Parts: sequence; structure tokens; C-alpha cells
Amino acid sequence: MSDKTSILIIYTGGTIGMITEPSTQALVPVDFKEISSQLPELRKFDLQLEPYTFDPPVDSSNATPDFWVKLASVIRDEYLHHDGFVVLHGTDTMCFTASALSFMLENLNKPVVFTGSQLPIGVLRTDGKENLLTAIEIAAEKRDNQPMVPEVSILFQNKLFRGNRTTKHNAEYFNAFRSENYPCLAEAGIRIHYNYGAIHYPVNERPLRVHTGLDDHVTLIKLFPGMRRDLLHSMLSVPGLKGVVLETFGAGNAPTTDWFLDEIREAIESGILILNVTQCPAGSVDPGKYETSRLLHETGVLNGRDMTSEAAVTKLMFLFSQSANPDMLKVYLNKSISGEISV
Ligand code: ASP
Repeated sequence: MSDKTSILIIYTGGTIGMITEPSTQALVPVDFKEISSQLPELRKFDLQLEPYTFDPPVDSSNATPDFWVKLASVIRDEYLHHDGFVVLHGTDTMCFTASALSFMLENLNKPVVFTGSQLPIGVLRTDGKENLLTAIEIAAEKRDNQPMVPEVSILFQNKLFRGNRTTKHNAEYFNAFRSENYPCLAEAGIRIHYNYGAIHYPVNERPLRVHTGLDDHVTLIKLFPGMRRDLLHSMLSVPGLKGVVLETFGAGNAPTTDWFLDEIREAIESGILILNVTQCPAGSVDPGKYETSRLLHETGVLNGRDMTSEAAVTKLMFLFSQSANPDMLKVYLNKSISGEISV
């Protein structure tokens, strides 16, 4: 093995490596060779860069928990051979994958930097070049011989975010992501400015532990005025359902009609865990601030505080695969596992 810092670039798919399919004129993912041939700058790094391509690469709308397991397994198998990892991924569900990985990669002590682009790498005005080059630089950066950002993060445009705090907010412009409830981990200008106070540095060095079980008996329900009882009832009655992320209004508010609260209460009594997160991109659930959240929380709904829906859904999937003990699950839902929630 060479002495150079080694970065594994895992290409899973996404726009960055897509081309227009002539018969349909739709964008489809192609091989990593397409990316590297468009980016001769890669050769200028004084680093050892190794590619790993998913076969087949996928549009991230087709990502599933199995796909997250595959990605986590690649990182597990390659962990000791590299100093950092860059994951090229479609933007559409990047925040779900990054959140899931943040739970699955326990004791992570190396950078796992997700990035992608809004325009394919072969398009003249692509944002993919800058994103990939900056992601590589961040994944390779060290401080006192230790990785600078030993977390699962997302680099997009010029900002580095904690992966499980990020949501996609723009389908058009290059600043596709935001992290409203947690500060940027770094910002790239002429230099890359690291926000040391926001980056998680492990206190004890423990070996990486990769969890490859995920339980998909969960759902995400977004409230809207006019939601019908039969609709809510049928969603909560799906056989085997274990957990619900309930996207409520504002600071965690929901209707106070009897039928609504009865449905929620009955679901909880049947053993389903319901986690309250807000539909607002920024801010937190604040139970009891309004009567509309006080009554909801009296049913036994759990407080998801300022978690993103992406983090909440994947946290449930992760925790249900770890334990069936409701008390234990509640303890972990109420605390931070990998910096996903402010407690
Ligand atoms: N549909 C693409 C994907 O998520 C969009 C992108 O890469 O930006 O794979």
C-alpha cells in the first residue's frame, strides 16, 4: 500500500454520472469511467484515488434499505484500506441514505462524504466537478494526523453538512441542500473553513461496527387539513406496522378532533410507536406549546424534536432492527445516536 492518503470513490449512480438516453431523452446512470474521463483534474491530486462502481448504478429514487446495506457493506469491507470515502449518489434520496449510514456505521472514525450534482458531469456548466473535487479534498483532510471530518456528511455547492441533518430543498438550483437545524460542518471558499465546534470527534477509538439489519415496517404520514379518517385508519392498520413518523404542523401540532386523537391513541395502544416531527423545514416540535400539540402528546406520541423526516424514518428502521423492547426504543428515540437530534 502506498504512503499516500487513499480515498475510495464509491459511485452509486445519480445525475453526476448520467447521460441522455437517445430513445427516451431521459437521464440514465452510466459507469464511473464516464465521470473520470470528464475530470482529468482527478489526476492532479497527490492522493491515491480508487473507484468502486455499483453494478448497476441507480437513480437514487430506486434506493432501498438493501441498497443502503450494500453501501455500508462496501465501506465495511474497504474501511481499513482507505483514509476516507466519497460517495457519489443521486440527490433525490441522498439525505435518506446519508441518515441511514450515520446509524449503520457505529464508531465511524473516517470521513464518508456524499456528493452528486444537479447537472451531469459531461454538461459544460456542470456543478459535479466542483462538488467532487471539494468532496475529495475534505475526505482527505487531516488535522493532527486525524481525519478532519470523521462523520457521514453531504458536500454540495460550497457547503458541508451533517448527513442526518440535511434535506433536499431545491430541484433546480445548485444549492440543492439545506441543514436548517444544525450548522455547516465546513464552507468552501478560497480555502475550506472547518467549523470544528460542530464536527463530531470520537472520544474513544473503537473498531467500526457496521449494522446491516434494517426493519422497514415503518411509514411516514404527512398531515394535511381535510385528511379523511378512513385514510388515516387504513395507513395505521397495515399489518406488521411498527413505527410511524408523523409530520405535523408547525411546532408539532395536529387536529384535536376526537376521531383523529382516537385513531392515534388506538394505534399506540396496539403497540405502534408514533414519532412527531414538524413539516417545517426549520425548527422543532414543542409539545404543549399549543393545545393542539398538548392533546396529541397526551395520546403517547413521542417527541421527534428537530429531526428531519429522513433521519426519523431511518432511525426507526435502524432501531426496530436492534430491539423489540418498547422502553428501550423510546430511550434511544429520545436521544442522539449520531448527532441527528438536538437534546
Ligand atoms: N434523479 C436523480 C437521482 O437522485 C437526481 C440527482 O442525481 O440529482 O439519482
